[in-house]
Amino acid sequence: MGLVVGLEEKLPSGFLLTTVEKLAGYMRKNSLWPATFGLACCAIEMMAAGAGRYDLARFGMEVFRASPRQADLMIVAGRVSNKMAPVVRKIYDQMAAPKWTIAMGACASSGGMFNNYAIVQGVDHIIPVDIYLPGCPPRPEMLMDAILKLHEQIGNEKLGPNREKIIKEVEAAALAAKPTHQLKGLLA
Ligand code: SF4
Repeated sequence: MGLVVGLEEKLPSGFLLTTVEKLAGYMRKNSLWPATFGLACCAIEMMAAGAGRYDLARFGMEVFRASPRQADLMIVAGRVSNKMAPVVRKIYDQMAAPKWTIAMGACASSGGMFNNYAIVQGVDHIIPVDIYLPGCPPRPEMLMDAILKLHEQIGNEKLGPNREKIIKEVEAAALAAKPTHQLKGLLA
């Protein structure tokens, strides 16, 4: 969200924009290329998803790209250490826009069991995340399910004035939300 890309952003709202949105969504969701990038144990499951038994190729995603410039999906597979955080951000910045992120596993989503100073407590502190995938580690089937859910999300993404409207609604909801210091959870 929040990325301005191409001519479609200039189109006025209405029937034409809705048609372009649908077309762009269809093409984008069916041409996702993940960056070759793994951080810890979750990456083993990600690699398994790409191998013969689970066969990610069925979704046109068998080619993990070795260059971030050719990738538009980042699967953050594993815990992110503070030392690694600037590298993750740099790779994300180098990826082609529009781009999407899956936080794979408890560690990437929230720090997981590593509630300490060395680990970033959720990769959303450094990059935007589209899908949070629970589990330690999530199985390859779960990753594939997350990818299919992301496809759905990408297929319904809005452009131009429609996107601006959604961003405003999301911001208003965030401002109206309860402050985190008032939330009660396991650690409160
Ligand atoms: S969620 Fe579990 S499997 Fe994944 S990186 Fe963390 S400890 Fe490893």
